[in-house]
Amino acid sequence: MTIGWHFDNTYSKLSNSFKEDIKPTPVHDPELVILNEELASSLNLDFSKIDKKKLAEIFSGNSIPKETSTIAQAYAGHQFGHFTMLGDGRAVLLGEHVVNDNNRFDIQFKGSGRTSFSRGGDGRAALGPMLREYIISEAIYSLNIPTTRSLAVVKTGEKVVRENLLQGAILTRIASSHLRVGTFQYIAATQNIYDLNTLVDYTINRHYPEIKTSKTKVLDLLNLVMEKQCQLVINWIRVGFIHGVMNTDNMTISGETIDYGPCAFMDHYDPKTVFSSIDKFGRYAFSNQPPITKWNLARFAECLIPLIDKDEDTAITLATNLIDNFQNIYEDKWLNMMRDKLGLFGEDKNDKKLINDLFDWMKKNKADYTNTFCNLMGVNSDVVYKNDDFTNWKKEWKKRSEFNNTTQEKQSKLMQANNPTVIPRNHKVEEALTEAYKGNLDKMKKLLTILKNPYDNHSNIEEYQVPAPLSNKKYQTFCGT
Ligand code: AMP
Ligand code: MG
Repeated sequence: MTIGWHFDNTYSKLSNSFKEDIKPTPVHDPELVILNEELASSLNLDFSKIDKKKLAEIFSGNSIPKETSTIAQAYAGHQFGHFTMLGDGRAVLLGEHVVNDNNRFDIQFKGSGRTSFSRGGDGRAALGPMLREYIISEAIYSLNIPTTRSLAVVKTGEKVVRENLLQGAILTRIASSHLRVGTFQYIAATQNIYDLNTLVDYTINRHYPEIKTSKTKVLDLLNLVMEKQCQLVINWIRVGFIHGVMNTDNMTISGETIDYGPCAFMDHYDPKTVFSSIDKFGRYAFSNQPPITKWNLARFAECLIPLIDKDEDTAITLATNLIDNFQNIYEDKWLNMMRDKLGLFGEDKNDKKLINDLFDWMKKNKADYTNTFCNLMGVNSDVVYKNDDFTNWKKEWKKRSEFNNTTQEKQSKLMQANNPTVIPRNHKVEEALTEAYKGNLDKMKKLLTILKNPYDNHSNIEEYQVPAPLSNKKYQTFCGT
């Protein structure tokens, strides 16, 4: 009955400035809700011979595998612009599981009880938000976007008190690490240069070993994280994803999407789209995500200043020059990403205008973001596209496509690789969650199966592809606390 755990815990060996040694708080009556067998097998883990009761004990943290040294990680964060000392207030890192000798994954329980970082919170999570994280993180993974993943969800058999009494749950999250901008902010705030150096070396060792011996490794680290985060936000924009709570504690150093709270996919195109009930001023609106990424990177840069150069002014100049380049890098990447979505090869000086004209049209006509690109691929013929302005725009696009200097087939392939035909539509996610909360997982499993192949040309899944009817009631998401 070997599961195949291969723990090698490096973070828990760091000093107590970085974490608190703590075990998950046992739960009353755990029950397995869902186990991601495909993910388990990619981690060389085999749960097939373990009965459901034992699985529930494992994924609730009631029964902890040997060779773990469980901790809660310390971090800080700018939450909606305000700096706070935080930390895992409701999560415990079980350990680092190593696959094939070189791939290291954090295994974390989210909702595992109070820690010294809990502040006023109960350390617990509710079933709905944990299943929601499961669905959306797996969808993002299948869209080929770097992300943490979800291995399992258990119900705790205990109630959590929110606005109502809700079923408690624990999510097992897999991440290439949980190092965040906020981790650096926490250590920087303690003003302990030794710890800051330790954190930089730890991070480079774990994520960017290629710069280990560089004489400018700290600046290189900043540069690499900027590159990764820029690519990440480009990917979000590509598929219409709105993270919803891009606080610096929710921004990884690895470049993975993390913390699926009030996130959601945009349906009709509006750059100002916000779903989160607490984002009153649209700080994390769809089109604000790139400038916020830059803002967060500037907070990361600030932490590194003491290590970039002995002379503070020099360090600030070097870091500022680097961060100031974000906009240029982003715009180049954005233009290329949009060319890919439109199946355009090469460059034309009017490309930007062509793209922006399409966005203007989409906004004016409340056209669905995903389906507009599907229409261009010939797989959606909604009535909104029978429109003179759109037809004229298409003519311009076709003219530009003639300069592709390649085959129609290659154009189609490029578009298919960049435009999903199906995304987790808000109303379908809610429908699946409502049933799952009541104990029926059929809809959730069907949704998960469809979302596994988001770039395929599916047949008979129209109900997953049509947006919810435009109604007066705006879709709202809530932080998963
Ligand atoms: P999040 O909004 O999930 O990124 O969480 C922000 C911070 O609040 C993190 O430090 C969490 O650990 C903490 N937190 C969120 N929910 C709870 C809770 N129910 N109990 C304790 N801490 C929490
Ligand atoms: Mg968080």
